[in-house]
Amino acid sequence: MTNLYDLIIIGAGPAGMTAAIYAARRKIKFLIISMDLGGQMGWSSDVENYPGIPDLAGIELVKKFDEHMKEYKIEVKSEEVLKLEKKARICVVKTRKKVYESKAIIIASGKSPRKLNVLGEEKYLGKGINYCATCDAPLQKGKTVVVVGSANSGLDACLFLSNYVKKIYLLDIAPKIVGEPYLRDKILKNKKISFIGSSKIKEVLGNKFVNGLKYEKDNKINTLKVDSVFVEIGLMNKSDFTNVRKNRWGEIMIFRSTITNEENYTNIPGIFAAGDCTDIPAKQIIAAAGEGCKAALASFDYINKWK
Ligand SMILES: Cc1cc2nc3c(=O)[nH]c(=O)nc-3n(C[C@H](O)[C@H](O)[C@H](O)COP(=O)(O)OP(=O)(O)OC[C@H]3O[C@@H](n4cnc5c(N)ncnc54)[C@H](O)[C@@H]3O)c2cc1C
Repeated sequence: MTNLYDLIIIGAGPAGMTAAIYAARRKIKFLIISMDLGGQMGWSSDVENYPGIPDLAGIELVKKFDEHMKEYKIEVKSEEVLKLEKKARICVVKTRKKVYESKAIIIASGKSPRKLNVLGEEKYLGKGINYCATCDAPLQKGKTVVVVGSANSGLDACLFLSNYVKKIYLLDIAPKIVGEPYLRDKILKNKKISFIGSSKIKEVLGNKFVNGLKYEKDNKINTLKVDSVFVEIGLMNKSDFTNVRKNRWGEIMIFRSTITNEENYTNIPGIFAAGDCTDIPAKQIIAAAGEGCKAALASFDYINKWK
């Protein structure tokens, strides 16, 4: 089996890229397959919470990870994984172009924010369209913003943003706030926040940057003047290609054993997972990078014992 890799890493976000750096240093035979380089990290207009690099555009941080990977000879395939299966002891990865085989796998396929799919959304990405309030709220000082989606993540976003912005419109297609009552009560008490229910976004408006949006309510089109739009309608899992065990939100369940020191194991031996595609609560760049490191170390242990 000459084409058998020791390890295949699926995804090149911070989790996958970190795992790749560790694998390269271990000098094992490995491959990284990813649809893009950087993952969600490239979506952030400013990353201000990555230790050692106080403030950098997400895309610049991706370049730094990439430069670090280029210190080593790493085989990167720009392909989409369609299926991952385990056949006897071999992990089989199918893309549109090829079938790859390995002893072990690290799934680091992350998530992607659910989009509004309206006119202007793509055009103003990074120019007023945001998908992460935790990351981008401090950049909104004194602005008027709209948060789309009134489930818990939208309500959290509103409360966090209210520390920075002048005014928040919270907009939802539902007639009433859908998040949990204790959060809803906080929102209703906050004088900066106005709820607009039964409303559907039709278009994001702007020149160079976002300056408003059109929404439909009671069969009428209205315009709202805002400086930024925060889309908080959920994240989509990107691990449908595998049937490893997942929780009710579709996140890969990580199995940890304090007895055997197992880390980042899934329910299938030899298949490891790291970062946002898993059930870890911290969905952040530094956490994903740390999980990528842990998954790599765990996989080396598994590969060493593979017969
Ligand atoms: C707009 C935005 C701003 C953010 N800002 C910050 C911030 O300021 N600070 C912070 O700490 N965190 C921030 N985050 C969160 C952070 O980016 C994520 O937690 C982190 O990127 C997760 O890393 P990951 O490697 O697990 O997954 P991802 O970054 O999602 O990477 C997944 C990778 O897998 C690839 N992939 C997926 N499916 C397949 C497939 N089938 N085949 C091949 N490849 C596949 C993708 O192309 C991608 O390369 C932000 C997120 C968003 C959306």
